[in-house]
Amino acid sequence: MENESDSGKQEAEATVRKSADGRYVDLSKDILTIHGITSLTEEQMIDLFGKLRLRYSLTPQCNIWCTFCSNEGSNYTSKTLKSADTNLVIKLSEMLLNNTPLKSIDFSGGEPTLHPDFVKGEFRIVEWTKTYPKIRFSLHSNAIELNPNLVDRIKSNFSRIGASINSVIFDTWNKMTNFHGIYPEKAQRKKFDRMMENLEYIANQNIGHKVFMKSVVMRGFNDSEEELSAFLDACAKYNFHPKFLQFDPQYASQKPLQVGRKELFSKLERLGCEFPEDVPKHNDPNTYIPGVNFEFSGAQTGLHSIFGCGDKATCLSCYDFLCMFVKPSEDGRGLYLKPCSVLDTKIDLTRAIERDNTTQLLGLFKLSREYLMLAPGMGAQDWHKEKKYES
Ligand code: SF4
Ligand code: SF4
Repeated sequence: MENESDSGKQEAEATVRKSADGRYVDLSKDILTIHGITSLTEEQMIDLFGKLRLRYSLTPQCNIWCTFCSNEGSNYTSKTLKSADTNLVIKLSEMLLNNTPLKSIDFSGGEPTLHPDFVKGEFRIVEWTKTYPKIRFSLHSNAIELNPNLVDRIKSNFSRIGASINSVIFDTWNKMTNFHGIYPEKAQRKKFDRMMENLEYIANQNIGHKVFMKSVVMRGFNDSEEELSAFLDACAKYNFHPKFLQFDPQYASQKPLQVGRKELFSKLERLGCEFPEDVPKHNDPNTYIPGVNFEFSGAQTGLHSIFGCGDKATCLSCYDFLCMFVKPSEDGRGLYLKPCSVLDTKIDLTRAIERDNTTQLLGLFKLSREYLMLAPGMGAQDWHKEKKYES
């Protein structure tokens, strides 16, 4: 019988691509784009649906402002715009699940728990997910509103719960989530305490194999051995997966804040983490190995991941790996696909969903992947965010 640590290992490996013999593979070596191909057959697109994740930004709104926030590729001004229409989210999901081999759907934000469906306590989206028991659903939250009521609703059928914590030390957490000091410290303290209470509750549900406690590692913020040690110890205490993400500079001037694999992995090894011998410990822009696993005693299998936008190998490979990002239109009445993270290209899906036109809908998804096959962001040094938010 499978135990919790086996299922935890499987879950940590679920988003990591490996060869049949279990070795890490450079995704840029086995792709159509290196042969100059920039279009897909219908069959190739259907195959892609079987391996890509559909990722909804349910709302651009958030209750904190992280220094590293990419806002899922949109500009910061959009943080105050409307949330996604619940009916459209459900209908689009059903059209894809019923007509393609899609297996994974992620709900993210902004902060997804601020979507009116959650705030009003209707939970239509969460209840709807229960009608597709074979699909992998994931929720990615900053855990401030990941409260017992919500956790109880998702703990059985969701495959993954991502909790973006970044630090278990209040002063560091506050420094990282209070960009430009926009929130009073007292309000931040309440949010932090709520987040920690929620983690305690989740830890008592015996679902640690599904929970990824996430940290975007930034130089001078949370990259010290003291910080990393406290984070790893908390993951072990709660029996969660530690997940470290490489910081993606939103502005070229933030590049020095990035901590590369070699430096981070050395620190993690000194703290007791163990990496398989074939784990890449470099940041070569000509290879793309986005996710690797590691072990830390007492915690579930860990994960380190890199986005790598702008690097040659990443841009050539991303049509075959990157999530299909779906976001609400400005007025919240429609949904669009955002193929490239750093460019503001939008492909409107609203009419195809409303008219129940699956053929056109699938054509728009194919178009978005073919756009990515052109590697539109290759060489980009930043994410084209508004200058006024640069710091
Ligand atoms: S929790 Fe997520 S959406 Fe909110 S500010 Fe932080 S990174 Fe951005
Ligand atoms: S093409 Fe765009 S989304 Fe893809 S890796 Fe490059 S910058 Fe990122």
